[in-house]
Amino acid sequence: MEAHTSTLTVYIPMRDIVIFGAPGAGKGTQSDYIVERYGLTHISTGDLLRKEIADKTELGIRIKSIMDAGQLVSDDIVITMIDNAIAHDTHGILFDGFPRTVAQAETLDKLLANHGRSLTCMIQLEVPREELIRRMLERAKVSGRSDDNEETIKHRLAEYESKTFPVAAYYAKQGKAIPINGLGDIKAISASIARAIDAK
Ligand code: AMP
Repeated sequence: MEAHTSTLTVYIPMRDIVIFGAPGAGKGTQSDYIVERYGLTHISTGDLLRKEIADKTELGIRIKSIMDAGQLVSDDIVITMIDNAIAHDTHGILFDGFPRTVAQAETLDKLLANHGRSLTCMIQLEVPREELIRRMLERAKVSGRSDDNEETIKHRLAEYESKTFPVAAYYAKQGKAIPINGLGDIKAISASIARAIDAK
């Protein structure tokens, strides 16, 4: 008798996700979990900018003092990086540290749409201010990052509050913001994130 074989086609949706939160909210830690679980490409604008500085490129030299002061670099610089990343990606991207202004968020929507994609959701890690400061000071002891010091931390939080926090409302209006309590056990936070993404 002839053997019958059947093929099962598993449809894996392409996900593009933003992980959002103040500096010190745990974006880096949870990003590692999300990219592993969903097979995404991890794009951290902070990491890309630090690489430019480490490589002493023309751009790196230009942005070092801005980053050391805890200020945001200009939208154009990070948007060019993101445009490139989307053009080269076929897996879906986890955007970490981007968008940080409403203008960046609007551009991200357009860039994804140019590639027939749209954002799946924005994971918003919520951590009280005192805990953010405590965590950043703790990290400063070991990170070796030149922007991890008390003075710069204050500037980074001020930039977050004035320019980045409004991005949360931008995504909430689209029904894409998912608030997650960023306090407590790291694995429990990861599990909440996975439940939220799986439900999308
Ligand atoms: P992070 O590693 O995400 O904390 O970013 C470190 C620094 O890089 C920030 O304080 C900014 O100076 C700069 N940076 C990272 N991402 C962005 C962005 N999307 N827009 C503007 N500046 C950024």
